[in-house]
Amino acid sequence: MTTSHLAVDLAAIARNVERMRERGGGRDVFAAVKADAYGHGMVPVARHIEPLVTGFGVATVGEGRTLRDAGITTPILKLSPALPPELPGALECGISLTIGALANIDEAATAAREAGTMARVHLNVDTGMRRVGVRPDDAVAAAQRIEAAPELELEGIFTHFADADTEEGRAFTHQQIAAFRLAVDEVVAAVGPVRWVHSANSAGILNHDLTGDTAVRPGIALYGSAPELNLADDLLDPVARWTSRVILVKPVRAGESVSYGRTWTAPDDTFIATVAVGYGDGYSRLNSNRGRVLIAGVSYPVVGRVCMDQIMVDLGARTDVVAGDEVVLMGGSGSDRITPQELANLMGTIPYEVTCLITQRVRRSYT
Ligand code: PLP
Repeated sequence: MTTSHLAVDLAAIARNVERMRERGGGRDVFAAVKADAYGHGMVPVARHIEPLVTGFGVATVGEGRTLRDAGITTPILKLSPALPPELPGALECGISLTIGALANIDEAATAAREAGTMARVHLNVDTGMRRVGVRPDDAVAAAQRIEAAPELELEGIFTHFADADTEEGRAFTHQQIAAFRLAVDEVVAAVGPVRWVHSANSAGILNHDLTGDTAVRPGIALYGSAPELNLADDLLDPVARWTSRVILVKPVRAGESVSYGRTWTAPDDTFIATVAVGYGDGYSRLNSNRGRVLIAGVSYPVVGRVCMDQIMVDLGARTDVVAGDEVVLMGGSGSDRITPQELANLMGTIPYEVTCLITQRVRRSYT
């Protein structure tokens, strides 16, 4: 455990759930809590929002099992297909399965028969993501095959958008929506209504037409980051505040270098604060000489290379900062705020990765 600490505001996540529900036209919400709730802590997040949601989306059977062990009883959908050896465990935990290829139907039926149980399945129709899912042309055959298997219950049909968060992706998303609508209509005509029809991730909810869907699958928006098309949107509440502490303040003279590789040299006499966080905590080395931190509402640059366990920040020639002071790496301080998006921009990535990268060494706390 280090002094590095992630404070997660569960009430803010709950407010974001409600906003996504409103923006999603009141549809059922399946909250994506995979990857430890995008780094925020899957169990505390899921426990807090369980009364507000219809179900949860996970990536692995292990994540589903962890939720069940924590007492979560609402539906859990594994958003990608399980391999046959994983199926008994998934069924034991009552996890709904994704049918991502025709072969998954027989695999699920066999596993359910052997376990003496029913398998609830969601048929994924690949309308353009090309990751998992049957082709739209195969959707009816897949649905009929599911219906014909007494061990399977077709509880959902879904697709996933490849580019719902950019202006350039708008036309492609419209094509995906049209292909999905057609496939759903044909499936319903062939086998009857399906309970959960869902296509929209956060960007889909915020930017696209959900007519015909009965559920939505937000992830990133619940954690306070808006997808690209809504960057300026203040619709969402910030959720996480990542802090650490100054461990010491040292004078550095003009011309002296700081940290590995000597990539930064003090232009003038200055004070450097050494802060207890590094890439071992998930504070990316890409922030070397680029990132900034907030101490008592004042912004200071990260200078020199980010180390595994420490970073150095330039306090300038006169400073009140002392060992023990709080350092905000992500979140608000005074009137300033470092958002996950700002860190993502520095790192050339997306907010999802910023929070997923925060390692288990960083203590999480919940309010
Ligand atoms: N649905 C599926 C199948 C996903 O893979 C994801 C996340 O990647 C989501 C929903 C949630 O997406 P977002 O976090 O962009 O809202």
